[in-house]
Amino acid sequence: MNYQVNKKGYYGEFGGAYIPEMMHPNIEELQQRYMEIINSYNFRQDFIHLLKHYVGRPSPLYFAKRLSEKYGSNIYLKREDLNHTGSHKINNTIGQILLAKSLNKKRIIAETGAGQHGVATATVCALMGMKCIVYMGALDVERQAPNVKKMKMLGAEVIPAVSGNQTLKDATNEAMRDWINNPEDTHYIIGSVVGPHPYPDMVTQFQAVISEEIKMQLDEHIGREFPTRVIACVGGGSNAAGAFYHFLENESVELIGVEAAGKGVETKETAATLTLGKVGVLHSAKSMLMQTEDGQIVEPYSISAGLDYPGIGPLHAHLFQTKRARYLWATDEEVLESALELTQLEGIIPALESAHALAALKKIKLQPDEVTVVNLSGRGDKDMETYLNYFGY
Ligand SMILES: *Cc1c(COP(=O)(O)O)cnc(C)c1O
Repeated sequence: MNYQVNKKGYYGEFGGAYIPEMMHPNIEELQQRYMEIINSYNFRQDFIHLLKHYVGRPSPLYFAKRLSEKYGSNIYLKREDLNHTGSHKINNTIGQILLAKSLNKKRIIAETGAGQHGVATATVCALMGMKCIVYMGALDVERQAPNVKKMKMLGAEVIPAVSGNQTLKDATNEAMRDWINNPEDTHYIIGSVVGPHPYPDMVTQFQAVISEEIKMQLDEHIGREFPTRVIACVGGGSNAAGAFYHFLENESVELIGVEAAGKGVETKETAATLTLGKVGVLHSAKSMLMQTEDGQIVEPYSISAGLDYPGIGPLHAHLFQTKRARYLWATDEEVLESALELTQLEGIIPALESAHALAALKKIKLQPDEVTVVNLSGRGDKDMETYLNYFGY
């Protein structure tokens, strides 16, 4: 089985670049040049240097002793929550800002829903002295005020998208319009393994540092590079793609993605794309997505803003279809319980997104001699209000 993207940008039947004619010059430049740039010696040097000295990598692979005792097995946490800005998202924005520099771009655009990707993008723009414009649905601008303030302090311009539902999809449309109008000097930083080819592969390559480190760190801990399984939450799918990547070809490693079920997969308030979705085109790529009978996108819901996305990257649709990876789901309630459990057993407050991966521990039978790696994609600071409302401290 082959899990790499092919020349045309497909993983099996999923992926590609379903873009408007006007966007061809932008995408073609990226398709033709991204591989050569990100594999060049200079790029690797700069990327590795910033990951080490700016992001704080390698992030620890922590043996969670009390959590392991509770589940009667061996559980390791990959601590992406300890990265600068608090999640794995910075790995990708560092990669893309260096790529933008190599392409001689002067201006960066991005779209953001909850604001996490917007903050990660504004951060690297400040670092590199680049102009940064972040499109955000007008409704999201109101709902995510702290992240909007951070972006502004970092020097970014936040433009509210006032069309449609005034959420992520509308921000994406505005960003694409901007890019079409500024093909020469602008790079568009997409925040997950979604969008037209080459974004899904490019973002996977930047996040693959996660599984590269897991292999080396596991070898130090237990004398072998391969765990029994790797578990990661899945929104667009970038932290999972990074945590899975170097294990894809080793079929003895079980790969588990966890989607957000929201209030439950039987309700309308859910974001479990692979569990409920059908094949379609979203964000310029063919994948699985949540849609009505006549192909309208269903508005997703999850307690965690980072998983609140109606689609999923084409790599995951392929891993799902070929059964190389298994996809489970967790409800808001299960997630809150697992977040509290980790906090009180290990002294680590996880992001709501990451707590989806933790919730999977209750859904599979762990054996005493097995080794499970959970990718802890981010920290819970941003979710304190939700936790406090629910637990009533
Ligand atoms: C954005 C985010 C996610 C979801 O994005 P993926 O592309 O699926 O990884 C998960 N965890 C955290 C902490 C996030 O900020």
